[in-house]
Amino acid sequence: MLKTLRTFHDFLAITLANPYYLGAEGPVTLENGTRISIWDTGVLLVEPAVTCQTHTDLVLSSGVHGNETAPIELCNKMIADIVNGTLAVAQRVLFIFGNPQAIHHSTRIVEENLNRLFSGEHSRQPGLVNKERHRAKALEGYVRRFYAKAPSGERNRLHYDLHTAIRGSVHPQFAIYPYPDSKPYYQAQLQFLQQAGIDTVLLHNGPTTTFSYFSAHEFDAHAFTIELGKVLPMGQNDLRQFAEFDYATRAIISESVASTHHEFDLSKMNIYQVSRSIVKQHDGFRLNFAKDLCNFSRFEQGATLAFDNEQAVVVEAQFEVIVFPNADVPKGQRALICLQPAQDVQWL
Ligand SMILES: [Zn+2]
Repeated sequence: MLKTLRTFHDFLAITLANPYYLGAEGPVTLENGTRISIWDTGVLLVEPAVTCQTHTDLVLSSGVHGNETAPIELCNKMIADIVNGTLAVAQRVLFIFGNPQAIHHSTRIVEENLNRLFSGEHSRQPGLVNKERHRAKALEGYVRRFYAKAPSGERNRLHYDLHTAIRGSVHPQFAIYPYPDSKPYYQAQLQFLQQAGIDTVLLHNGPTTTFSYFSAHEFDAHAFTIELGKVLPMGQNDLRQFAEFDYATRAIISESVASTHHEFDLSKMNIYQVSRSIVKQHDGFRLNFAKDLCNFSRFEQGATLAFDNEQAVVVEAQFEVIVFPNADVPKGQRALICLQPAQDVQWL
């Protein structure tokens, strides 16, 4: 398959032709010395000729939700440019297409939301009962191996898990900063986001079972879930919208200085913290706004956000901003997140 990749430069096509299984292969060395290895379907390791001079280990995952196509296309293009020699590789990169079967079916999931199965959740009740649970376990193993195989010494571990939102957004590109446990938030990472054209960050307030929290928690990686635009069918994305993200990420891989480099300005970032999560308590739960309302829509004090049976969920603060509303979740799960501008953040 590495031969096919070197001929056609299309790792996504190889992945989709083998959505269940792809045998490990490689490494092979390209003309410029870059080495590539396949670890599994949708999992490709890229390393420069001499790894002892590297300092960064970047995991770039996309397609954890199969219908979120723009980042899949962006990553496939990066891989193509690495294989055809136009993107020089100076740092170690692990590309992951998260859920090849869902990508193959053009659906968000096959049986279960893959991005709720990390940090061991895949093996908790009811256990490894479906493909997504097996995949989550395997992906954890690849990320572990990738970080473990790095040269010794101080490493800059990064993991950007790329998604697109189901609905429109007041801020079309935004990042979720996973809960840092007892560690501070890093401003240098916000600097990357600003260069990447992402001006909005949501600081999460607790442990989750997402892919980005897994890498942050277990490997001390600087990790984000990054939402780039809106869900569209494969091939219909206007990738120019994500040119800044593409450019900033390629700059990490090739260690080139981004020519659009501008001074970091924290005041230009919209930084939100979770004020509360609304949990669906009854089957009769319904949201009190349009189904297609944009993420980050603002509600003033006194506005009714939802009804849980006949109990109104009202904004008590001066205002709240909402994200990820979903009345169709099972009872006991989060149906809505309410945000407020972040205050007193501990930055490093
Ligand atoms: Zn997603």
